[in-house]
Amino acid sequence: MHCPFCNADDTKVIDSRLVADGHQVRRRRECLVCHERFTTFEMAELVMPRVIKSNGVREPFNEDKLRNGIQRALEKRPVSTELIEQSINRIKSNLRATGEREIMTKIIGNLVMEELKQLDKVAYIRFASVYRSFEDIREFGEEIARLEK
Ligand SMILES: [Zn+2]
Repeated sequence: MHCPFCNADDTKVIDSRLVADGHQVRRRRECLVCHERFTTFEMAELVMPRVIKSNGVREPFNEDKLRNGIQRALEKRPVSTELIEQSINRIKSNLRATGEREIMTKIIGNLVMEELKQLDKVAYIRFASVYRSFEDIREFGEEIARLEK
């Protein structure tokens, strides 16, 4: 792989490890010319179902969008990036496991809620309140009460 700093032809791998529950390989590389170090991530590219939005529009599955939604819910919460990546991988596995070529955003939303429920209750409530747009404050209170049980 070319060096992103000086564009030299070759860089050497100085460390390699599995991350994200074994779904990714993280490599530290060093340029043989300028000796700068950088990190690369390698993962399998698998076909994800397309997404059907609530207005019927189809669009390609967008992992960044999924990650942003989860991160927004988890803002300032004590949850590690590693755990977030594991959740994202589980959601993707679940989506692929359906065997469907197209999938409703609602199904993705439900999977996100399931993951957030395990990761962080506050993030779960944040996400659910936006996503489910609770009809009134009573319904919201009931959801919180259910979590506290
Ligand atoms: Zn270099």
